[in-house]
Amino acid sequence: MVESVQCAVIGAGVIGLAAARALAQAGREVVVLEAADAIGTVTSSRNSEVIHAGIYYAPGSLKARLCRTGRDRLYAYLADHGIPHRRLGKLIVATTAAEEEALAGIAARAHANGVEDLRRLDAAAVKALEPAVRGRAALLSPSTGILDSHALMLELQGDAEAAGAVLALNSPVAGGRIDSDGIVLDVGGAEPMTLRCRAVVNSAGLAADRVARSLLGFPAALVPTIHYAKGSYVALSGKTPFRHLIYPVPGGAGLGIHYTCDLGGQGRFGPDVEWRDAVDYTVDPGRIPAFVGAIRRYWPDLPADRLHPDYAGVRPKVQAPGEPPADFVIQGPRSHGVAGLVNLFGIESPGLTSCLAIADVVAAELAEAP
Ligand SMILES: Cc1cc2nc3c(=O)[nH]c(=O)nc-3n(C[C@H](O)[C@H](O)[C@H](O)COP(=O)(O)OP(=O)(O)OC[C@H]3O[C@@H](n4cnc5c(N)ncnc54)[C@H](O)[C@@H]3O)c2cc1C
Repeated sequence: MVESVQCAVIGAGVIGLAAARALAQAGREVVVLEAADAIGTVTSSRNSEVIHAGIYYAPGSLKARLCRTGRDRLYAYLADHGIPHRRLGKLIVATTAAEEEALAGIAARAHANGVEDLRRLDAAAVKALEPAVRGRAALLSPSTGILDSHALMLELQGDAEAAGAVLALNSPVAGGRIDSDGIVLDVGGAEPMTLRCRAVVNSAGLAADRVARSLLGFPAALVPTIHYAKGSYVALSGKTPFRHLIYPVPGGAGLGIHYTCDLGGQGRFGPDVEWRDAVDYTVDPGRIPAFVGAIRRYWPDLPADRLHPDYAGVRPKVQAPGEPPADFVIQGPRSHGVAGLVNLFGIESPGLTSCLAIADVVAAELAEAP
């Protein structure tokens, strides 16, 4: 069966749903093609659910710009739509002299990114705010918060559908081709079909590189390889002693093993970083001793017997292990020359925070699509 649609969005994670909403609200006819039997079952439900302030990213990068604008858009959207969230604030805690020095660089970068509300705390102020935390100094970020990411996705889906978008679950895109009339997608599943589209948004997350490579006629040299950086979490049973989110000074491929909690107050630590060749969500209890060592640097009295394996997520990284951090890659017609196609690669953290701002970029890229 051959169907046609103005715009297909591949993937119903938070990015695909936000893009579908933006496009539908701009008057486009939109179908969201999702391989799984529900929305948001992959990276969008396997993350820290933190609304990032926009502190760490290279000034001028997409991550810096879209996190900063996306965070404000997101807080407003959450408030307007009654979606559960809390602006808890976070501490970035320095535990050594070198880390204390690094705080100045983090604060300067935050300032360059338009994050104006960081406050530096000395050891006594850290102790007054968070008595269980040991730190020589810290940065307090009042704009960092947490949200219910599934409630957000349901709301984005609702908005998109209210504007006419259609969600097709169990609809994996198996491949396609680019021709003079647009993009043709082969959709598998129980009811396979061929879908002729004027525009396509490839927001397939961990599979975005495979989807782009499966489009005949798309220049394969422009498709970056997605590297999998698994992050495991461990849960803290019982009461948590913290009122804020607690982060170490970052180093390596993640933000360091930090403390976050969900809206029910369940505390957890993570995610760590483990480069993998395949996606795998098991949490190895053998990793817990490394968590204990990392956490005790800022919480010396951690009762280790209260830590238990929780869940894991996989970051879709554009950079290979050992390479410097890469930016989000948003490829529109102006960068690859294929009319109507937007590829989203490497949408790792802060993708959840940035979803509404990323959706605006996608809609702008497709503004001239027929
Ligand atoms: C450990 C971890 C912690 C994180 N913490 C945070 C955080 O605290 N704050 C923050 O802002 N961000 C965070 N992030 C980043 C955030 O989770 C992601 O940026 C965001 O969820 C990406 O959403 P997505 O829609 O691009 O991908 P996904 O949620 O993975 O959605 C992609 C969808 O595409 C579908 N799909 C794949 N292939 C096909 C196909 N061929 N056909 C049809 N459908 C297909 C999949 O089934 C999936 O539903 C974190 C990420 C990780 C891994």
